[in-house]
Amino acid sequence: MFAEIDPRTAALKDRLTAFMAAHVYPNEKALLDESRQDGRWRHTSLLRELQAKAREQGLWNLFYNHGPEGQGLSNYQYTHLCEVLGRSLAAPEIFNCNAPDVGNMEILSIYGTDAQKERWLTPLLNGDIRSCFAMTEPAVASSDATNIETRIERDGDHYVVTGRKWWTTGAMAEACKVAIVMGKNDPDAPRHQQQSMILVPMDTPGVRVERPLSVYGFQHPPLGHAEVVFDGARVPAENMLLGEGRGFEIAQGRLGPGRIHHCMRFIGLAERAIEAMCARALSRTAFGSRLSDMGGVRQVIGQCRTELEAARLMTLKAAWAMDAHGNKAAKDEIAMAKIYVPTITGQIIDRAIQVHGGGGLSEDFFLAMAFAETRFLRIGDGPDEVHREALARVELKRAQSRTEETVQ
Ligand SMILES: Cc1cc2nc3c(=O)[nH]c(=O)nc-3n(C[C@H](O)[C@H](O)[C@H](O)COP(=O)(O)OP(=O)(O)OC[C@H]3O[C@@H](n4cnc5c(N)ncnc54)[C@H](O)[C@@H]3O)c2cc1C
Repeated sequence: MFAEIDPRTAALKDRLTAFMAAHVYPNEKALLDESRQDGRWRHTSLLRELQAKAREQGLWNLFYNHGPEGQGLSNYQYTHLCEVLGRSLAAPEIFNCNAPDVGNMEILSIYGTDAQKERWLTPLLNGDIRSCFAMTEPAVASSDATNIETRIERDGDHYVVTGRKWWTTGAMAEACKVAIVMGKNDPDAPRHQQQSMILVPMDTPGVRVERPLSVYGFQHPPLGHAEVVFDGARVPAENMLLGEGRGFEIAQGRLGPGRIHHCMRFIGLAERAIEAMCARALSRTAFGSRLSDMGGVRQVIGQCRTELEAARLMTLKAAWAMDAHGNKAAKDEIAMAKIYVPTITGQIIDRAIQVHGGGGLSEDFFLAMAFAETRFLRIGDGPDEVHREALARVELKRAQSRTEETVQ
């Protein structure tokens, strides 16, 4: 199942690794500092410069496998590359491989009309604009998407969108020009046919970005996470994606690959955390011993390595299953990785913070921000409990049919 990576992917990986060393790690602090100055929601000139370099070097849209603009890599191949770029929180945007744009580009590629693709997908693939995905709402438990209350109502040649969203990643960015909004077009339809998805340009009258939200104090500029109001926003009927009542169908298509990409990146982030933990342990002495000679620290290092290996194998297996059997058939592997990888990588990063002492909690190291990132994914893209519940349903169904077979 786990093939050696092919020569083309290996060569891309080497180039990506070299690019990270030459241009990403050395600029992480400058990118953070620049983003903190006025205009924090703007793509800074340094970020634009690095994006242009990545593009020049063919390290652009690595995730994309739909057409000539993409690299045509399988999920399994991309896993090896995504792990490398996942080592830095600054990197995905530099390589145009960032959430939520990746998921939105997937939606537009698979479900968009030619006109929708031309207007929104092309500039997204070029990195000229950014997008957001507005599903979650403050007023309802949004882990159950059937609760979503935003209304998308037909009015002649238009749809009118009314509702309040939050945690809309990317909506703070000046470059964010379009939202994919999920909402109810028919509250009387069967439960999973009530919701639709529609493209709403951010400059539509009635769209208001109200405030940024932060994760443990981190606001993640330049994309940010926003509370957004759609106050009777009127858009042409051709902005509907796929068709009325087909929002769930699209959501399933979008979330599978998106979930696994997060896992792939977290493997890289946790790998870097182990490296940082070991380097720190080797360089500090307390009570007459190097930290790296202390049994407690050594146990932690061994545990981290073991757990990261398990997390990596789960991610690779899910990617392989998606390639071999399709995203739908691989849903259990994706769910298991989505539960396990953020939890384990979060624990690894937390242990690395501990070995760093006070420094680990500061912004002098990448660890505090990395911890916040992994913690978010135990809730984002579906909380752990929802995925466990889905797995339990399959498991119990299997047990039920075993029981029935025995009775016969
Ligand atoms: C940093 C960040 C970025 C995000 N980006 C986006 C985005 O771009 N677009 C977007 O639309 N949303 C986004 N989200 C929102 C995210 O997807 C939701 O927060 C998530 O789906 C949970 O919904 P909720 O917050 O309404 O929690 P609720 O639905 O209120 O759930 C609360 C808790 O209830 C428990 N629970 C729920 N169901 C079950 C169950 N079946 N069994 C047991 N326990 C259960 C879980 O512990 C869960 O965490 C983001 C969130 C964060 C933190």
